[in-house]
Amino acid sequence: MVTIATHTGGCLCGAVRYAIHGPMRDVVVCHCTQCRRQGSTVTVGVAREDFVLVCGAKQVREFESSPVARRTFCGACGSALFWTPVQESFIAIFAGTLDQPTGLRTAAHIFSGEKPDYETIADELPCYAGAMSGGSPTAETRDRLDCAIPRARRSSPTEPPLGQVRVRSED
Ligand SMILES: [Zn+2]
Ligand SMILES: [Zn+2]
Repeated sequence: MVTIATHTGGCLCGAVRYAIHGPMRDVVVCHCTQCRRQGSTVTVGVAREDFVLVCGAKQVREFESSPVARRTFCGACGSALFWTPVQESFIAIFAGTLDQPTGLRTAAHIFSGEKPDYETIADELPCYAGAMSGGSPTAETRDRLDCAIPRARRSSPTEPPLGQVRVRSED
């Protein structure tokens, strides 16, 4: 079945383009060390089954940032694109790569406990020292919970194989 993409996005150079065919969780600002070092801290979550890599499969590079998650970026321009927990059914997309307008709003800050000294969180949004679930995540769950969870469809019977995304076309 062909569905109309609800959102589209891509990397800085345009080699990698993606489409989303479903709801997106509101934006979460992640202050964790890994997101900061990768250069993008603002994410939205989407169900894997709603995500399609439209082009750029050859440019996409993956970095295994922890045993439980991969970080995807464009090998041509370096744009940080996705954070993918290997055992979950969602992908966190770095929101800066979405085409405007997104219709989203920023919902919360997470991992404020890792924010750098130069950063000030000055808004009234919910702010979590760790993951959105609240408490202090353990080291082994930290990256797993890193960039938050979409509101809906945390598990799916049609989930693609771990770490894979559907590729609509090669280029
Ligand atoms: Zn690129
Ligand atoms: Zn993060």
